[in-house]
Amino acid sequence: MSQTLIRPGSLSVLDRSQKINGTYYIQTWGCQMNEEDSEQIALCLADLGLTQAATPKQAQVVVLNTCSVRKKPEDKAFSFLGELRELKRARPDMVIGVAGCMAQIRADEIRRRNPFVDFVVGTAQVAQIQGLVEDAIQTRKFQKRLELPERKGTVVTDVPQRLLERPGKLKAFVPIQYGCDKFCSFCIVPSTRGRERSRPTAHIIEEVTKLAALGTKEVTLLGQTVNSYGKNLAEGRVPFAQLLRAVAEVPGLERIRYTSPYPRDFKRDLIDTIRDVPEVMEHCHMPLQAGDDGLLARMKRLYTLESYAEIVGHLRDAVPDIGLTTDIIVGFPGETDSEFQGTLAAMERFQFDGAYMFKYSPRPNTPAAELPQVDQKVAENRLAELIKVQTEITLQRNEAQIGKSFEVLVEGPSPKDRGSLQGYSRCFRMLHFCGDEKLQGEKVTVEAVSSHLWGLRAKIV
Ligand code: SF4
Repeated sequence: MSQTLIRPGSLSVLDRSQKINGTYYIQTWGCQMNEEDSEQIALCLADLGLTQAATPKQAQVVVLNTCSVRKKPEDKAFSFLGELRELKRARPDMVIGVAGCMAQIRADEIRRRNPFVDFVVGTAQVAQIQGLVEDAIQTRKFQKRLELPERKGTVVTDVPQRLLERPGKLKAFVPIQYGCDKFCSFCIVPSTRGRERSRPTAHIIEEVTKLAALGTKEVTLLGQTVNSYGKNLAEGRVPFAQLLRAVAEVPGLERIRYTSPYPRDFKRDLIDTIRDVPEVMEHCHMPLQAGDDGLLARMKRLYTLESYAEIVGHLRDAVPDIGLTTDIIVGFPGETDSEFQGTLAAMERFQFDGAYMFKYSPRPNTPAAELPQVDQKVAENRLAELIKVQTEITLQRNEAQIGKSFEVLVEGPSPKDRGSLQGYSRCFRMLHFCGDEKLQGEKVTVEAVSSHLWGLRAKIV
């Protein structure tokens, strides 16, 4: 039997004091920023009175939070919409919304191909979602909210509103910067998320303080180029290292991560802060993207292999056990075999603990999409070769940890390893170990006893 969204009282009067009776489901693709946006969307929908459903079939409001960074997640979102078409046919009172990066740049196409969609909301307008759901219930008229705030002069006044009242949890994402000013030639993010804007430091500290009071022990500060944080703020320039030190002062907070730093913006004060501030974790995910200067220049990455190597050297001098991970793209337009060999050599040279490795995916309206493309079979073979090389490096690096001790923040039972607890070390290694579930949320010291591709098995000491 179909269920109906019910707002108690007259449906013609919108009143936030009246809650909506119904359930919601959010499907998320993409990066941590999208995961964080989905959490905000969930808070907005819960604030309307909706409760979470386990499947889209059981939900009256379904929101797709989409990703455009490669073609694959876009295809998945369109195929998911295809499945929702049938549900909406059976239950016309259902509300379907599309959010995220694909919504930002393909809103008209989404609606044209899926006329049953009720609203499309862009990356900077997540806070509008309550009004969009209410309007959809009341009027059934399609709406879109796609405004991307411009940077106004030198002062930022237009960062998104956020709901800060949320349930307590051990680890949380905190966005500190939106958009990106780097314009790498392969990347669609500057179009989907707009120009770089930083959140005022006071807002960030307020959010982290609230989280810590609710029991959060670890925060991950999010930004597309997180270490370029702090330009164009009303309060004046705030270097990222200064923000890290301010966040570390929040009572109750024990660990701070950040992702992703941009190599060119990695300054000495940040390296000193990672070394000196105990709350800042010894992990750095710094995208390299390619191991050849010609490729880096065509990608419009604003650094060279040697300047990247210099930062890695300084980081490892300052914090010898730092965990280093990266992102790599293979098959970038015009990539020659010798350029690809340069990338393989860079992986051997830098000995990353792990890497996200992808085949280049042309994105519309980006300069790289107009360049002559690499044969797909060649690109696939290169990706397989790269993964093989990095897998070997990760296995060796994990094996070298056997016998070492790690401080782990216990997240709880491992979903993949029944009977074990799991948590991450300060250098962001996953560890599984036996122990009492009551340790959840505590920090324990463990010793690694065996190594795997995913991380380490350990025992509590
Ligand atoms: S730094 Fe480059 S790859 Fe990263 S979000 Fe900005 S434009 Fe995209």
